[in-house]
Amino acid sequence: MLHKIMAYKYEDDNIFAKILRGEIPNDTVLENEYALAFRDINPQRPHHVLIIPKGRYVSFDHFAKEAADDQIIGYIQAIGAVCDLLNVSIDNGDGFRMIANSGQHGVQEVPHLHVHILGGSSCGKMIQS
Ligand code: AMP
Repeated sequence: MLHKIMAYKYEDDNIFAKILRGEIPNDTVLENEYALAFRDINPQRPHHVLIIPKGRYVSFDHFAKEAADDQIIGYIQAIGAVCDLLNVSIDNGDGFRMIANSGQHGVQEVPHLHVHILGGSSCGKMIQS
């Protein structure tokens, strides 16, 4: 029986790695020990923020499987804090869409895990048919 050996391969020359190293400027919204949140350079809604973990993870599935518990907690808490900062939380705002494009079929452009938080106006139906 053939076993396909798959491994997540993180490339250190991706643009978000450069942002984390301070080589490229960014419009920071929030930073903690585990995550950096900054405005998307090409916003698709009035609020469009990207949140990236500081670790070397390609995608959400990579992160979910290999990140340490404190990294996962710190990252998820940063996402919640960004929702509060943008006033899109559903307890006191109008909501948001969170997107994590992953890999080829997810049409991921930058191979460092990021979630998009989009809000400030309706994001429409979930996905194009
Ligand atoms: P994705 O298709 O999910 O990989 O999306 C990558 C996102 O990164 C796009 O929405 C881009 O507009 C955004 N982006 C690319 N370069 C930068 C940058 N230097 N600063 C902020 N956002 C960026």
